[in-house]
This record gives sequence, C-alpha cells and structure tokens, in this order.
Amino acid sequence: MSPTAQASIPLCIPHIDGRVWEYVKECLDTGWVSSAGSFVDRFEAEIAEYIGGGHTIATVNGTAALHVALRVAGVRADDEVLVSALSFIAPANAIRYLGAWPVFIDAEPDYWQMSPKCVAEFVNTQCRFSSGELRNFRTGRRVSAILPVHILGHPVDLDPILAIAEEYGLAVIEDATEGFGARYKGKLVGRLGDIGCLSFNGNKLITTGGGGMIITNKPDWAERARYLTTQAKADPVEFVHGEIGYNYRLTNLQAALGCAQLERLSEHISAKRRIAMRYAEALKDIPGLTSMPTPPWAESVYWMYTILVDETVHGVSSRKLMKLMEAACIQTRPLWQPLQHSPAHADAGSFDCPVADWLNAVALSLPSSVGLTDKQQDRVIDVLRRGD
Ligand SMILES: *Cc1c(COP(=O)(O)O)cnc(C)c1O
Repeated sequence: MSPTAQASIPLCIPHIDGRVWEYVKECLDTGWVSSAGSFVDRFEAEIAEYIGGGHTIATVNGTAALHVALRVAGVRADDEVLVSALSFIAPANAIRYLGAWPVFIDAEPDYWQMSPKCVAEFVNTQCRFSSGELRNFRTGRRVSAILPVHILGHPVDLDPILAIAEEYGLAVIEDATEGFGARYKGKLVGRLGDIGCLSFNGNKLITTGGGGMIITNKPDWAERARYLTTQAKADPVEFVHGEIGYNYRLTNLQAALGCAQLERLSEHISAKRRIAMRYAEALKDIPGLTSMPTPPWAESVYWMYTILVDETVHGVSSRKLMKLMEAACIQTRPLWQPLQHSPAHADAGSFDCPVADWLNAVALSLPSSVGLTDKQQDRVIDVLRRGD
C-alpha cells in the first residue's frame, strides 16, 4: 500500500453488534438451525411488539415478503398495482411474479416519495369505477392495489393514498423496508395499510444476512401468509398441500441474528440520525448541495443520506462527484434507475415520471453505515467541500 492510500469507505454495510454470537451459538449448540425454532417465533413476536401490534410472518427475504403480501391482498394475474417509480426494483418484480402489472407513479419533488397527487390523477383521469371495481379504461385491466415504498428512511404521505384506496376498494401494501422505525404523523410505518413488508438484507437498518417480514392487522391474511410461505401445507403428517405455495420461511439461524440486531435497532437509528445531522450541518455552507427536507408530519430514520447536486452552482454534476469520491476511496451511488425506464419492465407500458427522472439525474447517496466514524464522515465532507 502506498503511503497516501486510504482505507475505503463503503456506502452502507452491516453493523454486527450486541448478542449476535450468543444467539447464533445457541442455534448451533442445540441443532435448531433451520426453518423452525424459538428464534423465529421470538423474532416475529418482537417485531410485532416493536411496531405496536399486528401479526408478523418471517420470510426468507423482503422480495418474498412482497410477493406473498401481494397475493394475500388479492392481487391476481392481469391486475394493475400502483407502485412508486423511484424505488429499488423488488416491489415491481413481485407484482410481475403474480402476472400483474405495475403502474409507475411519480415521486413528489419535495421529499421524493410516491406522490399522492399522481395517484389521484391516475385514478381520476385513467380509470373508471363501476360495479365495485376500478378499471384502467385504456388497458381494460382491474386496478387492485397500491404499493407505496417508503424510500431512504422517510415516510410516504399516506393519508391521501389511504383515502383513495378506501374510496375504490384497493388494498394498500406498504414497503416499509427502508423506513423501518420511521413515523408518519407519529405512527410507525409498516402497519398503516392493509399489509406491510420489511427486508433484513445486509444494507438495511438491521440485518439477518437475508430475511424479511410480513406485517398485517388482519388475522385471516396473516394465517394465509403463513400457509403460503410454508408450501401451503394443509396436513403436515400426511403431506397434503392445498395449493401451490412457496418455501419462503426464514431460518432459525437468521432469526437469531435478527433478535440480536433488533435489540440494537434504536442505537442504529440514533447513529443514522447523528450521521444525517452532521451531513446537514456541513451542507449548510456548501453551495449547490441540498438534502431531503423533512416535513412536520415525518420522522425519518435517515436509512441512506442522499443529497441533490446542482451542477450549475456546485460546479460538478452528481456523476462527476461520484467519480471524485471514488478517487478518494469513498463509495457513493446515484438513486435507482426510475422503474419506468427499467429494461426489466419494458412491457409494463409507458409512463411519464419527470420528478423521478430529475432525482435520478441529480441525487447522490453518501456513506451511511451505522458504524461510520466521525473521522470517516469528515473525509466524505472534505471531498464535498472541495468539489472540483
Ligand atoms: C432491499 C429492499 C427490498 C428487497 O429486499 P430483499 O430482502 O433484498 O429481497 C425491497 N424493497 C425495498 C424498498 C428495499 O430497499
């Protein structure tokens, strides 16, 4: 290593702390390593307790949770589901797993979440409501659900979306992965709709290596989700399966990790908030760089700290800034390709989402790991200040 070489600073890595070793060792010592065991039950119960009630079903990952949640919510092949255009691809893929179609809804420009105005506009100008069903009159398809994704740690403005869903009998599936612990009007996101999903992938607020959770207030939906995630097993002794299910259960080993991580969740959130405050403080006197504002109804967990780069003021574009960071061994990333442009969803139709396009062009996510040190963060801020 040359004397000037610096250790690299990753974007967002797991923070393995607390009683992880103790709990995992217990699984190994007792042989309870697979998809049954006390840690699975405990992890489910503790997530329910944290989120203030409801029924919880652990799954093998967040995408699987979304797949089953959509199916439980009654989404069928050839239905349409309204989903955030500016999101990781998982929710849109889960819609397609069922043979249903995503309708990409633009972000609003202030805090970058699914726009309730665009949801209303789609329903009011593209759909007809008759015999208790909402139909897209251009495609002829039934619209059955809305899937808002709380992105980057910040909640979606849910009330107007819930009101539209109520009016037209649509199910609401929240993807609360990135907003786990965030509050909308004082209430934790994840069980504000009909059913909610979490992921515990390595870069989330807490991790099980890979894992997910379905949350719902409806006992019959919970029962059906549990059934579908365990191969729709109707009679465990005679191996009778009532329909085509999935092998989507979380293992006890992973749940053990989850229990230990969950004990650290509030510290992880505090760390994210502290990182956000330090970035925000630094940005005050760097022209051309701004971050996501938080309206009074939102309490963000700042899962990923993302800035907007105004090239005309700052002197460099977000992509150029990413290159400068890379040269300083600092990992940064643009936001996701807006899903209406994704080759994977090219057959979903054409959608105009100018805000998502704009955010994709100007945004840059900064190192946000729970374990990011002040010294590391100062190195990032230093490059932000220097610009070109
Ligand atoms: C990470 C993520 C997922 C996918 O979860 P996996 O556990 O990786 O399948 C789903 N939705 C959002 C918003 C995510 O950030």
